[in-house]
Amino acid sequence: MTDHESWLIRGVTIAGSDARTSILLDGGAVTGIGPDLDHPGARILDADGLIALPGLVDLHTHLREPGREDAETVQTGTAAAALGGFTAVHAMANTDPVADTAGVVEQVWRLGRAAGHCDVQPVGAVTVGLNGTRLAELGTMADSAARVRVFSDDGRCVADPLLMRRALEYVKAFDGVIAQHAQDPRLTEGAQLNEGEMSARLGLAGWPAVAEEGIIARDCLLAAHVGSALHICHVSTAGSAEIIRWAKSKGWPVTAEVTPHHLLLTDELADGYDPVFKVNPPLRTADDVAELRRALADGTIDCVATDHAPHPVEAKETEWSEAAFGMTGLETALRVVQRAMVDTGLLDWAGVADRMSVRPARIGRLTGHGVPLGPGAPGHLTLYDPAAPATVVTPDGASKSRNTPFAGLELPGRVVATFLRGVPTVLDGKLT
Ligand SMILES: [Zn+2]
Repeated sequence: MTDHESWLIRGVTIAGSDARTSILLDGGAVTGIGPDLDHPGARILDADGLIALPGLVDLHTHLREPGREDAETVQTGTAAAALGGFTAVHAMANTDPVADTAGVVEQVWRLGRAAGHCDVQPVGAVTVGLNGTRLAELGTMADSAARVRVFSDDGRCVADPLLMRRALEYVKAFDGVIAQHAQDPRLTEGAQLNEGEMSARLGLAGWPAVAEEGIIARDCLLAAHVGSALHICHVSTAGSAEIIRWAKSKGWPVTAEVTPHHLLLTDELADGYDPVFKVNPPLRTADDVAELRRALADGTIDCVATDHAPHPVEAKETEWSEAAFGMTGLETALRVVQRAMVDTGLLDWAGVADRMSVRPARIGRLTGHGVPLGPGAPGHLTLYDPAAPATVVTPDGASKSRNTPFAGLELPGRVVATFLRGVPTVLDGKLT
């Protein structure tokens, strides 16, 4: 017997390899990988046919606490994350109160540690109250116990170019990054869905691609000018991908994410006026989806981030124009990525590990996560069954909210187990 929990995962295939092997987790870390491992006292997990990925990392989660505990709490949101194979999430700052002080980011950080389902890294607001007029105390949030490195007004755009410049300048001192929700506010006043044939048909105000692309182009130029890191949230248009490709070709410090829903769904779903498909930025066209997939495959877009945005029933089951923007996504992300990227031949499992763990951890300055599985790596890993029979998504998960756009859709794959510091948070698809 050992004096602490150890696990021997047998018959598993590590993403990026073809051979079956065993992984030994002991003392919170990966201590061995090889076909003939043995460890007296270790618990055995038979992982025949399963793929092991380094624990998934989400750069963009709305946990809603403090303030909107009717939609989600740190407890329920991190449970949903663990069930989706995540071992770390970045919690967005648009809570109530806004996470714009050391006090609030430390509160979220402590709630994450108490919940224990996955690590919670708070994101700090760029501007006080997300009001877009005055820089928040970025330095004190960076120095706090939460050690904030990613700052975002997500939900709103930092529209003022001078304020954006100042924010980029400020975070350079401690290797921070500004994550921009790219949306020109004037070009999207009253916007309800993608501007195009569908918005014209439904008679709803359109959200034009140029409102995203214009801000992204401006901010890439600012990031280059200042020499500071810009991350672009939820890229949704083909033109945005093209601008980012151009910025990267210049060697500028720009990274980007795409959501699972923008990799799979289109604005045609708005046809029935069901607000479950209302999201910001909006679902776009099939051509945009195809280009976003290509850009994620070739690395122009660095990573997948869920933009998990839970809302209570009353905020979504209402008229389209009154409904809240946003969709849940933590529990389905990996399955959607399998369908959109792996089953289409665009990405292999090593690529998925890179786009859903290694790169998001690097962009989020999250040390100890996103480490490829090997001896000495932290014991954060996800066991996934890509050959599990496709099942219909139901809205009843661990999230407190039910606004999944994938409900009723058949998706492949199943997250079988998630390990955080060598201890399972999920086993046999259920919370431990
Ligand atoms: Zn956003």
